[in-house]
Amino acid sequence: MDQKNSFDILKECEGAKKIGISGHIRPDGDAVSSCLALRRYLMNNMPEAKVVVNLEYPPSIFNDLWGYDDIVQEFPEDEEPYDVYFALDCNYDRLGEAQKYFDKAKKTINIDHHMTNTGCADVNVVEPEVSATAEVLCKYMDKEKLDVEIAKALYAGMVTDTGVFQYSCTSPDTMRRAADLIAFGFDFSKLIKRVFFEKTYLQSQIMGRCMMESVRFMDERCIVSLVDLKTAEFYGVKPKDYEGIVSQLNNIRGVDVAIFMYQTAAQEFKVSLRSSEKVNVAKIAQQFGGGGHERAAGLTMNGTFHDCVNNLSDKIAEQLGD
Ligand code: 5GP
Ligand code: MN
Repeated sequence: MDQKNSFDILKECEGAKKIGISGHIRPDGDAVSSCLALRRYLMNNMPEAKVVVNLEYPPSIFNDLWGYDDIVQEFPEDEEPYDVYFALDCNYDRLGEAQKYFDKAKKTINIDHHMTNTGCADVNVVEPEVSATAEVLCKYMDKEKLDVEIAKALYAGMVTDTGVFQYSCTSPDTMRRAADLIAFGFDFSKLIKRVFFEKTYLQSQIMGRCMMESVRFMDERCIVSLVDLKTAEFYGVKPKDYEGIVSQLNNIRGVDVAIFMYQTAAQEFKVSLRSSEKVNVAKIAQQFGGGGHERAAGLTMNGTFHDCVNNLSDKIAEQLGD
């Protein structure tokens, strides 16, 4: 991988008139916040450049962040290629429709922290030991050039990916960077509640249902819960309403691995995996074409629900030494 030891965001973009930024499909807090923070950083420091963020369905809980309303959610054919195109918080595979802009761009830059990402751009800054893509950005942004809106967005991304500085990806550097960010003076309590803890009534209902219907197996060390298409339709829930369910399953005492699945089509499921400490779930996700981090990973699986669970439990058992 062409990994840069020193990386200067503004230098990499020198002379660019048209810059595009995108993150992964079904964007989470880190993807949305990283895109918005980088856009403002570039706009503040390169006033001559046009900077666009393309993201599909950015969750509305992030609508307090600067630039949220400017996110371009359609992906029209564009005559003029981008001078620079950024892929944030993902590999090329998960860029979705933004792939076409990335393909045509004169220069591409990939900034990420997923250990399963091997780098997909001309310039790759992939740092798996860093908690969030927002933290990678924070590391490389010039402190003198930040402002309160950039700080707030970076903080929101870090809050999302560290589970409010709780997950093991949180490092002393994460806390030092977060400290520098809150010094800008935004209301971080309100932000954390809004982007992490607050749920709609519907989200709470589906969470409750998933807890009720969950099944433990492998001596109660694994737990799985499913939302099938019929249930989703009955409650009127969408994938964004499932945020937090898998973590809640993983919070249950004695659970080593939590699996949350929702059906996307006949014999197709989106799967989220969380691990407490013993199992590297990124390794498991990767074996089925997905990816992520040691303690939090995801994938798409085909087959019946039972096929999927059996396949996953074989791999979990291998790691648990059974
Ligand atoms: P979540 O379970 O919250 O959707 O995702 C957990 C982690 O795994 C995130 O870092 C996410 O980016 C990654 N992830 C989720 N689904 C996929 C997938 O299908 N492919 C890859 N490569 N990574 C995924
Ligand atoms: Mn991330």
